[in-house]
Amino acid sequence: ARARYVDRCPKSYQAFQEALSVMPGGNTRTVLFHEPYPFRAATGEGSWLIDADGNRLLNLLGEYTAGLFGHDHPEIQLAIRTALQGGINLGAHHSIESKFAQLLVSRFPALEKVRFTNSGTEATLMALTAARAHTGRDKILVFEGGYHGGVFLFKPDISTNAPFSWEVCPFNDVKAAVTAIRSLGPELAAVMVEPMLGSGGCVPARPDFLAALRRESDAAGCLLIFDEVMTSRLGEEGGQGLYGIFPDLMTVGKWIGGGMSFGAFGGRAEVMDLFDPRRPDAIAHAGTFNNNVLTMHAGVAALGRIYTAKHAFRFNAWGDKIRERLNQTAIDLEIPFQISGLGSLMCLHPGAGPIENYRDVMRRDDRLRELVFLDLLEEGYYIARRGFIALSLTLTQQEIDRFVDAFRRVLERRSDLLR
Ligand code: PMP
Repeated sequence: ARARYVDRCPKSYQAFQEALSVMPGGNTRTVLFHEPYPFRAATGEGSWLIDADGNRLLNLLGEYTAGLFGHDHPEIQLAIRTALQGGINLGAHHSIESKFAQLLVSRFPALEKVRFTNSGTEATLMALTAARAHTGRDKILVFEGGYHGGVFLFKPDISTNAPFSWEVCPFNDVKAAVTAIRSLGPELAAVMVEPMLGSGGCVPARPDFLAALRRESDAAGCLLIFDEVMTSRLGEEGGQGLYGIFPDLMTVGKWIGGGMSFGAFGGRAEVMDLFDPRRPDAIAHAGTFNNNVLTMHAGVAALGRIYTAKHAFRFNAWGDKIRERLNQTAIDLEIPFQISGLGSLMCLHPGAGPIENYRDVMRRDDRLRELVFLDLLEEGYYIARRGFIALSLTLTQQEIDRFVDAFRRVLERRSDLLR
């Protein structure tokens, strides 16, 4: 599979060699690297990517969930043009910012007040800062496989460089979480969790796990934070609405900025009011581009006009059907292979057995993941190297039908290795 990739992508190889001389690894996003070398995207149209060698790929990665609207959604483009006409870098309060904030607050029940950042990473940093200031406590409990930004990746036995005092528990393990929260008790500022591990392999939280986190956080007097950077797209009210469990603070990012750089955090007014600069004890939260007009306009189009709550419901129901079809394909072929996830987000896992936490994800054979990735690229489908898929609104039923066929061909071709 690698040899055929090299044959198809000579220009990407050249481009990679040139990039290597100025960027370690030839790029600035670790996640985009794959063997033998990453393909070079030339342009994007609708749901399609064209690479430097002219290969056309159906984009099922959807920019790790931020590309929900495809590459050239007319309403997003119009919103950005409108923003440009009104002037860039206003450096002042402006009304599209408050309109965007109102849309967010009316969409997600946990949000009473909100502040903008430029990325999901910054949003989690600021939510944790708020929780520590509000509680006057230090420690943060997180879960294995949780990804909360470039500096917060929690793999078993790997520490992070983020300057917080972390405790890490296995995901979906009620007993371990309850024990940890009770024993850390008065030191604990926050429990931070994704309602579904996103980057960690699309592992949905068990409802009793989230319910236990809610109950025990209340009892311990710490804040529960949902990182909904990915899961906010999963239903009418994001992951919290799906589970009917509501955090004290939440973070969002990705698609909500319409594909522009974006992040936001917010929640209970009592906590968020710590950021009111009129207070003598206010927490400072600066950021030159926090209210940049391009993101604010694109976000208003994204959240208010295109991906409305109703649309989110229908779209994720479609995603559930697609996931079921892929799983059924593997069952029909009697090949141990699973597709985990919720709604429009899913992840391919070779092998058998339950997938309830990050250890289950890591147990699967990574070489087989790579092989399936390269085979799907050859078939003309772009997913993440680690099997992640984020559907976008521009995909058609016919494109998905063809993808399911291609998935079947790959399983058949590799059935000896996969069994
Ligand atoms: N939290 C979660 C759950 C994420 O998936 C991501 C990005 N993959 C982030 C935070 C960080 O967002 P960003 O890449 O915008 O910094």
